[in-house]
Amino acid sequence: MRRPKGHSALPMAEPALLSLDPPELPLNALDTLWLQVTGTLCNIACLHCFITCGPKNHQHEMMTVEQVYSALDSAREQGVREYYFTGGEPFLHPQIRDLITRTLQQGPLTILTNGILIDEDMATWLGSTFVTAPYSLDLRVSLDGMTAEDNDVIRGKNTFALITAGIARLARAGVNPVITVTEVRPEMGHAEARAAFMNFVRALGLTKPRLKFLTPFLIGREATRTHGYAHNELLHQGDLHAGEEFELQCSSCRMVTDDGVYPCPLLINVPSARMGDTLAEGLRPIKLAWQPCYTCHVSGVTCRT
Ligand code: SF4
Ligand code: SF4
Repeated sequence: MRRPKGHSALPMAEPALLSLDPPELPLNALDTLWLQVTGTLCNIACLHCFITCGPKNHQHEMMTVEQVYSALDSAREQGVREYYFTGGEPFLHPQIRDLITRTLQQGPLTILTNGILIDEDMATWLGSTFVTAPYSLDLRVSLDGMTAEDNDVIRGKNTFALITAGIARLARAGVNPVITVTEVRPEMGHAEARAAFMNFVRALGLTKPRLKFLTPFLIGREATRTHGYAHNELLHQGDLHAGEEFELQCSSCRMVTDDGVYPCPLLINVPSARMGDTLAEGLRPIKLAWQPCYTCHVSGVTCRT
């Protein structure tokens, strides 16, 4: 899976600081496989994107169909129980329907999307796949405000209209996506604002709204939008609380990309996090030396639904 990086549009983002005595985290079981199906290519360029995706970011290229199928074969051998597609924007992949169909033959699948490319035809196909697939299909659509003013300042001009139209099409097709909201404004942490968001999503046609609020990770474009991590925001031996070695998502997941295997979706642009070419090479403990690990530890956030 290794490929030359010479054509990358952006420099690799090795963090300035790595913990010198990081806690070690075993892989308890490989339950979850993430697939970076469209690499760092996205149809938009959100200001809080922790892997700086965009239309011109080729840091990670799209995975080929063969790469995805090979990863799925390895995952089956390892007893993986659930799958996630992410990017970038997964619906940019020209063979996305084949990838979805193949994955659903061996386990439940969740797709993280901004929803913009889900037209009527795709929404109808997803609705019918939702009903007929042997395993469950779930979608997560990201939206960062209840108004164009709030959302578009983060996700780009006119994205509010495009994303909410995609959500409405999914609702009409009988698909009930989780709406993910990154807490880019402090008020989103308050119960009142969250209840208002729930009502807003219900008005889009999702009669049983599901929301997931995400803590921002201070890397990638988010580090430029606000600030990066402080020097002391690193993990050290002894920092993990009892049981945390089972709660952190990287204790039971790995991420495959066009370029090899990483511990989780957050670290695909961090060269020191690369574990090897194949999934088998990723089946070993990791050292939680990276600054995003601090956020996982402090907030308990996970990229899983
Ligand atoms: S946050 Fe999601 S939708 Fe926005 S640029 Fe990154 S991958 Fe694309
Ligand atoms: S960033 Fe979070 S999920 Fe990724 S390796 Fe660190 S603790 Fe694990």
